[in-house]
Amino acid sequence: MSKPSRAIRGRVLTFNDDPQTAGSAAHEFIEDGLIVIAGGHIAEVGEAPALLAKLPDSVMLDHYPDGLILPGFIDTHIHYPQTQVIASYGAQLLDWLERYALVEEQRFGDPGHAAAVAGFFLDELARNGTTTAAVYCSVHPESAEAFFAESDRRNTRMVAGKVLMDRNAPAALQDTAERGYAQTKALIERWHGKGRQLYAVTPRFAITSSEAQLEAAGVLLREHPDCYMQTHLSENRREIETVRALFPWAENYTSVYDRFGLLGPRSLFGHCIHLEEGERRLLSESGSVAAFCPTSNLFIGSGLFDLAKARDPAFPLRVGLATDVGGGTSYSLLRTLAEAYKVLQLQDQNLPALEAFYAITLGNARALGLEDRIGSLAPGREADVTVLDAKATPAMAHRCERIETLEEELFLLMTLGDDRAISATYIAGERRHVRSGG
Ligand SMILES: [Zn+2]
Repeated sequence: MSKPSRAIRGRVLTFNDDPQTAGSAAHEFIEDGLIVIAGGHIAEVGEAPALLAKLPDSVMLDHYPDGLILPGFIDTHIHYPQTQVIASYGAQLLDWLERYALVEEQRFGDPGHAAAVAGFFLDELARNGTTTAAVYCSVHPESAEAFFAESDRRNTRMVAGKVLMDRNAPAALQDTAERGYAQTKALIERWHGKGRQLYAVTPRFAITSSEAQLEAAGVLLREHPDCYMQTHLSENRREIETVRALFPWAENYTSVYDRFGLLGPRSLFGHCIHLEEGERRLLSESGSVAAFCPTSNLFIGSGLFDLAKARDPAFPLRVGLATDVGGGTSYSLLRTLAEAYKVLQLQDQNLPALEAFYAITLGNARALGLEDRIGSLAPGREADVTVLDAKATPAMAHRCERIETLEEELFLLMTLGDDRAISATYIAGERRHVRSGG
């Protein structure tokens, strides 16, 4: 057992369950709390005065008197090669890919470029309080290699994979079923389970993979059952029509992935907006995860994710929340919560603040099946921690004067907050981001 090296003091909030089902017993709040870190893990969490009394003087103490200390945020769907096409104008999904994303991604065969962007991307996540993400790289194995190397150097827990794409894409971005399989296999052997790195087999979506390639993806998952699978599903009407034309034998879009063995509890499906009932059944029965990406769905004009339907007891879906940068418009999971709230408001649904913060911490950890490692502040968990400041801007500080409850403070943070509201971010117990001037 390592000796305590650091302690973080402030107002501590963590979840042990989903407030939507477990109510107020789902969260724990300590007004003057302390998190003690040893060997990159959380050793103790409790009342600050009692824990401080027994800590040796050698322990580094970071005190945030007004700060709200939460588990590091988790993003279940994001593209690291799209940091320079975020905020690209005027297109829906298939045009957006053709005009912007699939042009930009051609740069990532260059390992130097990939490494530089991976560094920027991981810095940007830390600045936004995000400590884990499920990440799409480009089709080039070099892009995944650069990403994992950079993440391993920072000791961040990341899930990532090289995109598989062997048709309906620029020639420079195509692999083949055989090459994609071999490259993925080599990357899994090199990176899956190395330090905090985890691999996701990543067919971009059914339109850009042949049946042979989807078949190979299924083989990879059977050979490596503890790897993830990530892809896109039912985001846009034209996309769905194209899938229908490419796979005339399939009952629906989801059944294409099902046919090749790509559904399951470690499978993450971005968007899931226009699902038919049969698709909900397939996803529900396989324990697959739907990633709700509100800023992207609004920006690309894809549609509104129906959370109530996802919770339908007939076919309940596991749901993760995600930014989907660069179709999404913010790296911030606080901004993402704000847009999720509005997407639900438009459908006469709601998103209470405690449920929202559960979603981007323990909820997303559960979506990734990593709840025994990350997503909560409890002894034994990896020490990924985000410190929030509800008075980050003059408008927020002004609004705070009328705030009386924790729920009101959280709702302010998710409605007006962004990267400016992140005071500090800790990754495996190391402070990797401190807000300047804060
Ligand atoms: Zn995406």
